[in-house]
Amino acid sequence: MNMVEAIKSAGVVGAGGAGFPTHIKLNAKAECFLVNAAECEPLIETDKYLCRTYPDRIVETVVKIAEHLGAKRSVIALKDHYHSEIKALEQAIDRKKAAVEIFKMRSFYPAGDEQTLVYEVTGRSVPERGLPLDVGCVVDNVGTVLSIADALEEKPVMEKYLSVTGAVAKPVMFHAPIGTPIRRILQAADLKETKYAVILGGPMMGKMLRTDGEIDAAVVTKTTGNLLVLPKDHYLVRRSELTPERMIHQAATACIQCKMCTDLCPRYMIGHEVRPNMVMRSLWKEALITDEKEYKRCFGSAANCCSCGACEMFSCPMGLSPRKMNDYAKGLLRARGINVEKNTQPVARDGIEHHRIPTDRLIARLDLTRYVTHTEPELIEFQVDGCMIPFSQHIGKPAVPKVSVGDHVAKGDLVASAAEGGLSANIHTGMAGVVTEVTDRGIVISGKEE
Ligand code: SF4
Ligand code: SF4
Repeated sequence: MNMVEAIKSAGVVGAGGAGFPTHIKLNAKAECFLVNAAECEPLIETDKYLCRTYPDRIVETVVKIAEHLGAKRSVIALKDHYHSEIKALEQAIDRKKAAVEIFKMRSFYPAGDEQTLVYEVTGRSVPERGLPLDVGCVVDNVGTVLSIADALEEKPVMEKYLSVTGAVAKPVMFHAPIGTPIRRILQAADLKETKYAVILGGPMMGKMLRTDGEIDAAVVTKTTGNLLVLPKDHYLVRRSELTPERMIHQAATACIQCKMCTDLCPRYMIGHEVRPNMVMRSLWKEALITDEKEYKRCFGSAANCCSCGACEMFSCPMGLSPRKMNDYAKGLLRARGINVEKNTQPVARDGIEHHRIPTDRLIARLDLTRYVTHTEPELIEFQVDGCMIPFSQHIGKPAVPKVSVGDHVAKGDLVASAAEGGLSANIHTGMAGVVTEVTDRGIVISGKEE
């Protein structure tokens, strides 16, 4: 089996983002292979833990992937204050005599955004709505690299490393089967709050779970990297309760057109046409605009927004929601059937290095400083007696079930296979047991004897 087939068979998807199927990404040739270990968002520990714990496995797999891609350059990018992780990787590179570079980035948000990372390492701007491959690069998260290492040994993706941070006695790492209920993980962490909300992922782009029902329905997936626990009255929880109507009203009445949202936008700075201030300025008259050219001038740039949230969580002095309004504008463009042209050769704007958002300032702005610790979290190997494995853990089509109610499955068995035609990925079980339910959403497995 070649590398791409092994990765496809193991169901590897991007571990640090939206879950792009890796066998499709790596079915390519590239000049540069970049490993993203920059832990884009604050208060996530997973990538650092993996770099400290598996440096040799990471380095040897990077070499194999670079060889497969025909890459002349292999780079592991991480933040310059990750001292233990840099040391561990540098020692591994020495031991293996590997041609792998360590690239140290300043601590800013969003250092781990794929396109920002490509610009930092290569000085190239990825085209609007393009891929790193368009400028000769392939980027994988460090967790994905370890999944590839497993795939090359015919071990599928069936468990996940994730940190639990925020309102906990101390941050902790879990290694849990895919499909583990989030509530079970939280019960095993030492929470400081009895009434809490949880962000799946980081505070900037993660998914907020506010209600008990939302938390009870959530499970660990291939892309879960962190649970951020917050008190129910935390600023971020209250902010997430704003309705779209309220945000539109605020945009129309409170935006002072200072343009900070645009000036600090990471995609604007690498040369993309993203102008959230223009969207905010135009919302009040949206329904009145009939001319398509004028509509594009007002709202077209929303198409290039990557929803990183820098504008609304940091830049805006009025506490407005330009990211959400860009999302809203994308829907409006779709509804009107308007296609926005792409700039295929963007050029980074002058002063880009002075328009970075320092991570510590961002943490303070998000009222998260009290949750910052400098201890290395311990690992809990987590076992469950029941799980729900979703069919959609990746971008593209949901996987197709391969098991039925009553089937006995062993750990590592394929339970749903990649859908034909288009993006999809195989799914395996991380626990042995009996299939008790197959729903539209996924497969329920019980480890208890009948
Ligand atoms: S969310 Fe805001 S800062 Fe981020 S890309 Fe979109 S407009 Fe730019
Ligand atoms: S930063 Fe806020 S106030 Fe300033 S232009 Fe953008 S949305 Fe308006």
